[in-house]
Amino acid sequence: MEIKVQLTSNPKTKPNVKDLRFGNVFSDHMFIMDYTTEKGWHDARIVPYGSISYEPSVMVFHYGQAIFEGLKAYRTKDGEVVLFRPQENFKRLNRSCEALCIPKLDEDFALKALLKLIEIDKDWVPDAEGTSLYIRPFIIATEPHIGVHPSNSYHFIIITGPVGAYYKEGINPVKIYVESKYVRAVVGGLGEAKASANYAASLKAQEEAAKKGYTQVLWLDGVERKYIEEVGTMNVFFVIGDEVVTPMLTGSILPGITRKSCIELLRSWGLKVSERKISIEEVFEANEKGLLKEAFGTGTAAVISPIGELCWNEKSVSINNGRIGELSQKLYDNLTGIQYTKLPDPFNWVVRV
Ligand SMILES: *Cc1c(COP(=O)(O)O)cnc(C)c1O
Repeated sequence: MEIKVQLTSNPKTKPNVKDLRFGNVFSDHMFIMDYTTEKGWHDARIVPYGSISYEPSVMVFHYGQAIFEGLKAYRTKDGEVVLFRPQENFKRLNRSCEALCIPKLDEDFALKALLKLIEIDKDWVPDAEGTSLYIRPFIIATEPHIGVHPSNSYHFIIITGPVGAYYKEGINPVKIYVESKYVRAVVGGLGEAKASANYAASLKAQEEAAKKGYTQVLWLDGVERKYIEEVGTMNVFFVIGDEVVTPMLTGSILPGITRKSCIELLRSWGLKVSERKISIEEVFEANEKGLLKEAFGTGTAAVISPIGELCWNEKSVSINNGRIGELSQKLYDNLTGIQYTKLPDPFNWVVRV
């Protein structure tokens, strides 16, 4: 399929890198492609970033058929632009499609479209330390119809925007509230899909935790409220004795690409990594015995987010004295080192634009 390109006649002024935050500035262009049952995916085009209008009856507004991805483009020290494991994002997008009855994409074509979009907006990839171009591919149901069924038409859209360094003054461990009242997802539901609905389901708990002074919530399984699932919008790891433990993918946990990369890196360093069920009780007991050395979240935005404090049933414990652990720091340095091509890329994770 050909990708038509319509360049903007009105390029925007790029923000000063010092003012970059997250998710509030968008590049000049976007990719968009239509789906209808008659034609399949068609009319792939890159057009100026801007509003799209929809009838108020389109199904995404009513029944929430919406999925997304999140990845970054990095500026290397040689001025090149690279992506980190983008094939994994389109694989996962297709798995999300399946979960929400959305027609799948050709993954190679989606990657080709992304590379072309980044090529066109290459100048939007910032070059200051720790900054990047955030990429948000998403699919929404666009059939104007009231009535519950999978939509007959969709839009696949990719927008991008420069984002600031996640950590400006060094990595600060976060305070986490272990959520025993609300649940994010249950096995058999949408938890392993990157569905917008999962985020709608997380807001209430997040808001209540924030009021109590916590940055994020740690989700427990929806049935027994016993086993750890993930933290906010990140997967989670615990270093207990000489074992690194992360919850196994049971069906209600989002399979993070940072999670997968951390497991592969840790194993390549000869460390014991277990993907298994881990209860919150086990974590607190390990802490009492002095075996809980580190805890951290993993995700594209922060890469590694160390957990400095956990609060469960009114009981707070501090982890590694509220400081970043040795392994968390090593993972952060190695992952960002590979992403910005400062380190060799033994797994072939980096894709050049
Ligand atoms: C996207 C996401 C993650 C992290 O996935 P990465 O691929 O590592 O960015 C973790 N949990 C949830 C709920 C997510 O939506």
